[in-house]
Amino acid sequence: MKNSDSVWDFVEAKREAFFALSDRVWDAPETNYEEFHACDEHTRLLIEEGFRVERNVAGLPTAVMGEAGEGGPVIAILGEFDALPGLSQEAGVAEERPLVSGGNGHACGHNLLGSGSMMAAAAVKDFLAANGLKGRVRYYGCPAEEGGSSKGFMVRAGVFDDVDIAISWHPAAFSGVNNPISLACNELNFHFAGRASHASATPHLGRSALDAVELMNVGANYMREHMPSSARIHYAITDAGGAAPNVVQARATVRYLIRARTLTELLGLVERVKKIAEGAALMTETTVRSEVVSGDANLVGNTPLEECMFANLQRLGPPAFDAADNAAALKFQQTFSQQDIAASYARFGIKPKKGQALCDFIYPLGGGDGSIVGSTDVGTVSWVVPTVQMRGATYAIGTPGHSWQLVAQGKLPAAHKGMEYAAKVMASTALDLIVNPALIEAAKADHRERLDGNPFVNPIPDDVSPPLPESPNGR
Ligand SMILES: [Zn+2]
Repeated sequence: MKNSDSVWDFVEAKREAFFALSDRVWDAPETNYEEFHACDEHTRLLIEEGFRVERNVAGLPTAVMGEAGEGGPVIAILGEFDALPGLSQEAGVAEERPLVSGGNGHACGHNLLGSGSMMAAAAVKDFLAANGLKGRVRYYGCPAEEGGSSKGFMVRAGVFDDVDIAISWHPAAFSGVNNPISLACNELNFHFAGRASHASATPHLGRSALDAVELMNVGANYMREHMPSSARIHYAITDAGGAAPNVVQARATVRYLIRARTLTELLGLVERVKKIAEGAALMTETTVRSEVVSGDANLVGNTPLEECMFANLQRLGPPAFDAADNAAALKFQQTFSQQDIAASYARFGIKPKKGQALCDFIYPLGGGDGSIVGSTDVGTVSWVVPTVQMRGATYAIGTPGHSWQLVAQGKLPAAHKGMEYAAKVMASTALDLIVNPALIEAAKADHRERLDGNPFVNPIPDDVSPPLPESPNGR
């Protein structure tokens, strides 16, 4: 049998089709369960590649799954294709220039993320067929990562129940195995209801829902001193009850995003915030109703999988960026502050190299300061399936997350090279697992050990539905 590294040739053979897929998704950025075009594009290529395709996965109209191969273990490669609102930007130019004022933009590189993951799955499929190997590879096209927690709904629906191992990646400034650190989070709406009244003539008859929201926020702000310092609480008043100050506001809604290191810590914090809401309702003689909007579990790491993926990164070596790639990235670096760039390197304890705009190395396993940046719905998957992720360098060092600069770099040759690079590492990691059942068993044992005494609670309760939009064109 051929060495699993020869799967890299299969990845290379797919360059044209998958770079084009990524670019088409970039061209039509869609957000939060509205990724109809992106999902169609992914579905079409899955069919063309000969995958067995399942649409409407977990009842989500913009989720798709493709499976190939027979028997053996099931390896899932997870992809995303959603964009962010308000970050429309012309491709390739190092100055802020929206294509559509107020439009969406691929400011987290998910055009590359989904296409690279499917590229890996397609190469594994071809390798299994060419070598007559038993094993199944699946590509999961997951919508709404940015605030929609689709993978949490997919976990709840059991779509990963027969998966042995999950693999994913994220576009980044540096290449390496992802440090499995993220915050568990819950987003909740608190709807307050009071009684309207003339604010001057009969204020004593009114009960203000907006007062309740303000008091709740004061309470939450006082709680900050008495919660774990790694936890985070953010809020936005999504309904202030109207624009007329001469009316006592009968309704008001505040949305809370609560984050904590672990699921247990998160659920405890959510209960405390609920008490604060009840306290605010009590003070103002209003009523309050809360509802969960979305939620992600924290990431669970996996030592055997991380070591395996790291070995693959090392065998392949860093992505082959050339002088032209570096020159293009340098132009973007000129729009960042020196602090942005220095902070980026500092996370890995690496001294900045003059004139270097793209990462030409692989950071060490467990590298980085473990700083917590945010939450991801991959976290929820990692509680039910042993999961590993990598970061592949696709943009200039120092690029801020969710920025116009990130959007602008999404179609550059360096972005494509980084995507191909990630596809290669994910593909050979998947094959290492398929041909080595002992490695899968080791990963499962590590997973069991980490979760021992920590029962999984999906931060999305059973009665919460995904916030699906009306489908366009009667779909
Ligand atoms: Zn992202």
